[in-house]
Amino acid sequence: MNELTRLGLKEIRPYLKTAWRLHPSALIWAVAEYFWQAMSGLSPWFITLLVAGVVAKNLALSITALALLLFSQVGSTFLALIGLNARILLMEKLINYYDHDIAQKMSHVPTLKLHDDAEAQSKVREMLDQTGLLGQAFNILMNSLSMIYRPTLAVVGALLVDWRLIFVILAALPLTYMGKLSSKWDEQAEDESAQGSKLIIHLDQIIAESSAGAEIRLRQAQPAFLERISATMQAWLGPFVKAALKGKVFESLAFTFYSVVSVVMLWHYIALVQAGTVSVATLSGVIAVLLTMQRAFLNISYQWSSLTRVLRIVGRYRWFCDYISDEDAAHQSTQNLPTAGKGWPIELKHLSFSYPQAEKPALKDLNLSLQPGQVIAVVGENGSGKTTLANLLLGMYDPTEGEILIGGKPLSALDLETWRKHGSGAFQDHHNFELTLREGIELGGMNLPEGVEPLSVEEALSAAGIPEFPATLPQGLDTELGKERGERNLSGGQWQRIAIARGMVHPSPALLILDEPTSAMDALAETALFESYARSAQNVRAHGGICLLITHRFSTVSNADQIVVLDKGQIKEVGTHEELMAKQGLYAELYEMQAGQYR
Ligand code: ADP
Repeated sequence: MNELTRLGLKEIRPYLKTAWRLHPSALIWAVAEYFWQAMSGLSPWFITLLVAGVVAKNLALSITALALLLFSQVGSTFLALIGLNARILLMEKLINYYDHDIAQKMSHVPTLKLHDDAEAQSKVREMLDQTGLLGQAFNILMNSLSMIYRPTLAVVGALLVDWRLIFVILAALPLTYMGKLSSKWDEQAEDESAQGSKLIIHLDQIIAESSAGAEIRLRQAQPAFLERISATMQAWLGPFVKAALKGKVFESLAFTFYSVVSVVMLWHYIALVQAGTVSVATLSGVIAVLLTMQRAFLNISYQWSSLTRVLRIVGRYRWFCDYISDEDAAHQSTQNLPTAGKGWPIELKHLSFSYPQAEKPALKDLNLSLQPGQVIAVVGENGSGKTTLANLLLGMYDPTEGEILIGGKPLSALDLETWRKHGSGAFQDHHNFELTLREGIELGGMNLPEGVEPLSVEEALSAAGIPEFPATLPQGLDTELGKERGERNLSGGQWQRIAIARGMVHPSPALLILDEPTSAMDALAETALFESYARSAQNVRAHGGICLLITHRFSTVSNADQIVVLDKGQIKEVGTHEELMAKQGLYAELYEMQAGQYR
């Protein structure tokens, strides 16, 4: 049994409890229907009784047998209608529940670890692809129960007709083994194809995405991509086709064996009827058993493979819940933020961080002290670790080694949600929220400390240097933005301005992070914005906040109180512009080089 199946088994109880909580009556009807269906397994025995009653002219026996037969057949048809309705109701409820539950858990997980761990991401993606199946899992589970009661009743029914039918039962057994084998082959095929299916999705996206459109056309790369898609598709399908073929061969062999035994048994019973040792009534029952037994046993085989499949689906969900609760447990705060005087000093002590599965650390042994009211510039070339540092300061990742102290208390022991109320900023990989302009900016004021009023949207736009922007849009602040469903799509620089405005809504952050805020802007826009930043920084400074300005453009940070030069994840130099220029080290070298390019 693989790990996911084991987790799936653990999750069955909570899953059924959820179903019960969501709609108890639907659950009862659905279960009743399944059990009623089981009655049809006894039909051969009812037929034997009916024929015996008719032959013996026993009216009471005939009517009772007929009633039982009708009861099991018609009753289950009638219940099937109610049961279907109940199952659909329950499925809808379960799908809604799990959709909401997963989205809620995803957005509340305290750090970004889940997003950056490739292995975890692939499991999450598989789970998200199968959210609908989580809702259907109840039906599949109930169907799987039929794996137990249908053959059991079929066996009881057969033995009630005649004990010698035990040979027919034994002949049907290989059919059940088939299910186990094919689910093992299916699992193997799924594992073998996992990489392929991810690659196909990725290649499909490349072809469809407009961001790749120009390059693909320029390089005439479509045929190469299509070829890769079809080769991957074949490699992906291969294991499934092989598994299906193996399954069919085994099924045919098992069927042939069953059919041969059935024919021999039928011939034997006809001989017994002719000899007068077995009644016609028993013969009728035997025929009914021979016609139905293989279906009951084949059912085990099919249900077994769908059961293991559903256990893997439910198991993925269980893995996800465990992951989230481990993360939650690791971030149980034990201490409150110290009472704010005028902001909090932030200290980094031997801070190191490695991304999951990364070979080298992104940050190594950083020691730094950031004082309230300071504007601190973090400069360094691409990949030097600037964004990683910003994320660590907001508690988005846990340090691999060392710690961050906020007002003297370790961030790992503080309530992250409270700390984040005091943070704001514009981030390099900001999301383009396809909402109205107003909504996209107001998001910045959704998590403020108690009693703090957000800046108005207009003020935030001014702080971002684009007070006149709404006037250029068809519906002003209420214009829906975005390519998919918006009234206006924006350029990279415009989206960046909106992200900055969002970051400015917080009037008094203790930590304002501006991560490469002007990377998508032209030189003129950048200069104008930096003047506006100087004002914001003064404002943040007045509140005792720390303004962290991250950039790889050295020319923009010469006024900062402290400049931190990062190189390959390590602090190379710290000082003011003048101090660092005088030192003639890496900062001075890169500053001169960039200044030369601008001259
Ligand atoms: P900068 O902001 O200075 O450009 P980053 O902090 O983004 O640098 O990246 C620092 C290092 O960490 C780089 O080597 C980068 O490749 C790596 N890195 C960044 N993000 C991830 C991630 N999500 N997973 C793995 N490695 C990452």
